[in-house]
Amino acid sequence: MSSPRDLRPTLHSPVASVLRVRDLRKTYGSVRAVDGVSFAVERGTIFSLLGPNGAGKTTTVEILEGLRIPDSGEIELFGEKVTRVGPAQKARLGVLLQEGAFEPYLQVREVLALFSAFFPKSRPPAELLALVGLTEKAKALVRTLSGGQKQRLALAVALLNDPELLFLDEPTSGLDPQARHHVWDILRDLRAQGKTIFLTTHYMEEAEALSDWVCIMDHGRIIAEGTPRDLGSRFGPATFVEFELPSPFLSALSGRFPGKIRADGEHVLLEVQDLTQDLSALLSWAAERGLSLRNLLVRQPNLEDVFLALTGRRLRD
Ligand code: ATP
Repeated sequence: MSSPRDLRPTLHSPVASVLRVRDLRKTYGSVRAVDGVSFAVERGTIFSLLGPNGAGKTTTVEILEGLRIPDSGEIELFGEKVTRVGPAQKARLGVLLQEGAFEPYLQVREVLALFSAFFPKSRPPAELLALVGLTEKAKALVRTLSGGQKQRLALAVALLNDPELLFLDEPTSGLDPQARHHVWDILRDLRAQGKTIFLTTHYMEEAEALSDWVCIMDHGRIIAEGTPRDLGSRFGPATFVEFELPSPFLSALSGRFPGKIRADGEHVLLEVQDLTQDLSALLSWAAERGLSLRNLLVRQPNLEDVFLALTGRRLRD
């Protein structure tokens, strides 16, 4: 059987993608917000555009939602080439409205009834409330909902027209971990039902947990793309060891593990190739000096490491 990677449509493959973008550009004055972006999104997958603030994610998505006109570039949506996204395509898209979009003194079911009036045909509100886990809140006022519940209501509204492609810009921004995981579960369910999800986020964990394919964007360009696992594998068999070390000991440690250390104040990130041997050497080195290596953590490379290696910066600097 083919791996998901083999099935992945490239820009030149004959496999039908929901969305393909070639050399998309958008400039605001002297700012090249989107500077020649190309990618393809396969049906029934979660695709993430990951990047720091100002990378150009929102501009890219707003072009694809039909809210902004690109300066140039090709867009192929639902198999049709368009110069800009118009009403025919928008009818097949779902967009997550930002917080504050819903009247606080309306009931949850009234919000769905109100927004369903925008569409000639819409999914039954009860079905959508069940899907996002809000059935018991149908008669609750919007103002009484928690942040996570409001976000799930926004998801239900985005699904009213039964869209094939759902754009979610920072869908879990400001949510606590439990609420975030609830939204992630819903997104996985939607993917299992065949929906395609286009996620923009600067949460590396979110992109990593959900995505079938990630494009990392910086300064208007895609600087890397692949499955989260493929992107992490650029480090080969390396494992990362994190800990805290009083700054004066850093140069001695650098001598012991040349070229494999990044330090940020007292926080140290050590890239090791042979975990057993190198960790044991590190612990002996620390023990000889009476150092405790506070908050020691052993982990696999993640998307944050990829971004750091490519740009020298953190995603959320
Ligand atoms: P964030 O994660 O903060 O939302 P982003 O990756 O979505 O960031 P964009 O909002 O697309 O990035 O912004 C990309 C660049 O374009 C930034 O430098 C931003 O300041 C600039 N920009 C965005 N919208 C406008 C606008 N309407 N007029 C002028 N500059 C803009």
